[in-house]
Amino acid sequence: MSVVLVINSGSSSLKYSLVDVEREAELAGGLIERIGQQSGTVSHTVRVVARPGETVPAMLDVRHSDERPIADHGEAFDVMLQQFAAHGPDLAGHPPVAVGHRVVHGGARFFEPTPITPLVEINIDELSVLAPLHNPANLAGIRAAKAAFADVPHVAVFDTAFHQTLPPAAYTYAIDAEVARNHRIRRYGFHGTSHKYVSEAAAAFVGRPLDGLRQIVFHLGNGASVTAVDGGRSVETSMGFTPLEGLVMGTRSGDIDAAVVFHLARRGGLGTDQLDALLNKRSGLLGLGGSNDMRDILARRDAGDETASLAYDVYIHRLRAYAGAYIAQLGGVDVISFTAGVGENAAAVRADALATLGFMGVRVDADRNAERGAGTRRISADDSSVEVLVVPTDEELEIARQTLSAI
Ligand code: ADP
Repeated sequence: MSVVLVINSGSSSLKYSLVDVEREAELAGGLIERIGQQSGTVSHTVRVVARPGETVPAMLDVRHSDERPIADHGEAFDVMLQQFAAHGPDLAGHPPVAVGHRVVHGGARFFEPTPITPLVEINIDELSVLAPLHNPANLAGIRAAKAAFADVPHVAVFDTAFHQTLPPAAYTYAIDAEVARNHRIRRYGFHGTSHKYVSEAAAAFVGRPLDGLRQIVFHLGNGASVTAVDGGRSVETSMGFTPLEGLVMGTRSGDIDAAVVFHLARRGGLGTDQLDALLNKRSGLLGLGGSNDMRDILARRDAGDETASLAYDVYIHRLRAYAGAYIAQLGGVDVISFTAGVGENAAAVRADALATLGFMGVRVDADRNAERGAGTRRISADDSSVEVLVVPTDEELEIARQTLSAI
């Protein structure tokens, strides 16, 4: 049996997915939100799984929604179990052999999927110093899941793990070395599960071994990051000590001169929490263009809105800068992949991000790029020097696979 329950627990949310690893299929998934608030929301989707060789349209999936107060993560697990009992699939018929947990921060300590012992829980808790919003929420999910599924192994899969192969030159910030050491300041990188999954899927799609393949993966969702992958190993990535660094994101600024923070503290009278909220929650596309949704930005830009147009231009400018930098770091590139909400859906972003690389033979085919479709697809022209792909990410499947590999 190869069914794994994948848990992604946020501070007020619980996302779950029941994955059949052998069939590479999600059997059901759900999202419970607004835990601890007056009224919570529950959505549970039962998927129709195709037989080998068959494709089943996503519209056949059946979605059930509900609203009710949910006090804490423990109750959220009860609600999840009720969803499976009421709507299926029957967990007795598809018993999970393990539970895989997405954990955001593994520090410099965890770089493999790790069976969760009490000591590992203590370590995840201790790493909350580095990820105060995420690790405590992940831990709440782990504890509630262990109570609900006491008889199966639980495995932590870390968002930072794939980037453990960054060389010191890439992960070290040029600040006082002792200060950095004392406070564990370095680049850790995030979205690792997605970058790993996409780089492996891209290599499989182009039919070349990972070894020796130079890849750039753009994960462009609400959060966004780009990774240079050399021979299957992450060698450079845009998110750093926290997910704030790097690309322009839905609500995050990405790269900014750190002195802006001092200036706003001294002259603008902003406190630490206000600065944190400004750069993490009110910047990026939202701060520039009034919406964190690329669909809105594109629609308004096309209608002639100047703020949306500038937001888009800043977004693309940054993508181009990173593409160039990473090509230089890798000494060339063989495959460039786009994934996540923006990367999988926004053809304009893909085309514009690579538009200046024509000098080195990178050519995106306009028709292929405009076509919508499920699954991995090539959007580069046949005579392009570099393969350009759209690779839908599947973090749940990757976590499930890694969970199985650890038990
Ligand atoms: P998250 O980082 O929250 O997992 P996703 O990967 O789901 O985010 O990406 C969500 C974002 O993808 C949305 O905020 C929106 O900007 C973008 N997006 C989704 N669909 C489209 C589309 N058809 N065109 C452009 N952007 C899209």
